Amino acid sequence: MVNFSKSKISVIQCLLNKLGYYNYSINGFMDNYTINSIKFYQKINNLNITGILDKCTMNNINEYIIGYTPYTIKNGDKLNDIAQKFKTEVWRILVANPTINPFILESGTNINVPFNFGIVPTNSFYTYNIMKDNIVGLSKRYPFMKYNSIGKSVDNRELYKITVGNGSNHVIYNGAHHANEWITSLLLMKWVENFLEVYSRRGSIRGYNIEKIWNSTTIDIIPMLNPDGVELVINGPDYVSTKKEQLISLNDGNENFSNWKANINGVDLNRNYDADWIEYKKLEREFGVLGPGPSLYAGDKPESEPESSALASYTRYNNSRLVLAYHTQGQVIFWNYKDLQPEISYSIGEELANVSGYKLEHEVTSEASLAGYKDWFIKDLEKPGYTIEAGKGENPLPIEQFDTIYENNEELLLLASII
Ligand SMILES: [Zn+2]
Repeated sequence: MVNFSKSKISVIQCLLNKLGYYNYSINGFMDNYTINSIKFYQKINNLNITGILDKCTMNNINEYIIGYTPYTIKNGDKLNDIAQKFKTEVWRILVANPTINPFILESGTNINVPFNFGIVPTNSFYTYNIMKDNIVGLSKRYPFMKYNSIGKSVDNRELYKITVGNGSNHVIYNGAHHANEWITSLLLMKWVENFLEVYSRRGSIRGYNIEKIWNSTTIDIIPMLNPDGVELVINGPDYVSTKKEQLISLNDGNENFSNWKANINGVDLNRNYDADWIEYKKLEREFGVLGPGPSLYAGDKPESEPESSALASYTRYNNSRLVLAYHTQGQVIFWNYKDLQPEISYSIGEELANVSGYKLEHEVTSEASLAGYKDWFIKDLEKPGYTIEAGKGENPLPIEQFDTIYENNEELLLLASII
């Protein structure tokens, strides 16, 4: 049997839970409860009842994870019948297949039939692989969503960028510069999913007309800037890299990577930008960081890492009105860099604080406020940039905080696109 990672088992537990086969905790372990619910799933779906995630079972489950199934239209099919067959709704089929004529279905046409549920799981670890499945799934459900990659991580994972909207105003949101802050990737992905669904039925969220936002702004979202690090924190070094021993030694001999913020080279991506980087390097030594490790090591030059370099290049060549960089934790919004920010930064910051309930905080120059992404954006591009420290507690924040984090940030993300 294939050895599944903790996060893969969690995703399957989430799915079995969503489909009504599993009612226990999402813990990432192949325990008896999980095995029994797999058997139950296999029985209902006419698969061999083994309790094992064999190839047939995984093929079957994967469709639900991706969130849609391909279907070839047969003679005499009606949309209603197809929707009923897959227990979904007609509008979902129409949105996913904009070129079909609902009144004259042509037999032999291949379509994608989305299932009747959201696909971004908000009750589990959120890894690169889960996000990748979600991005593909969302693009099939909502073909007007665009995505591509702005570069690759050290270990060759894509640095995905999702684009929603096509207006002339341009903003960039990003998450998970820091590995153990992966809940910020989930926040951005869930927000995108809701945004797309509401846009497709021309609705509004919290009083914001989504079609209006779509037409006025192009929102670029890079949900996971540090995918190697996120995998390392969630699944451990065995699943991530061939450099297991080296990583454990960079992590002070510790096999638990929950304190790890850096990329897989041990460089803190949010200390790797060209905003007084040399000044930061001096401080770095003062507080005892002498080389690569779990956090705070700035690399040997600005943008030395493929992740920070890709984001800086993308930001540099796209004329963004504003950027949001999501981190955890503290429920605060940092809005300044030294005194270089434009005048409007403060008032926008106040509004973002108002709608989120987070505190607007003036950052004093210290090791925590040099050479970061928003620092560089403010310094070089002279526009409003914000670091948002979502949630409260110890990183990685428990997934139980997700709903509160979402609640606090949903309107902030809408407002920042048009302010
Ligand atoms: Zn952070």
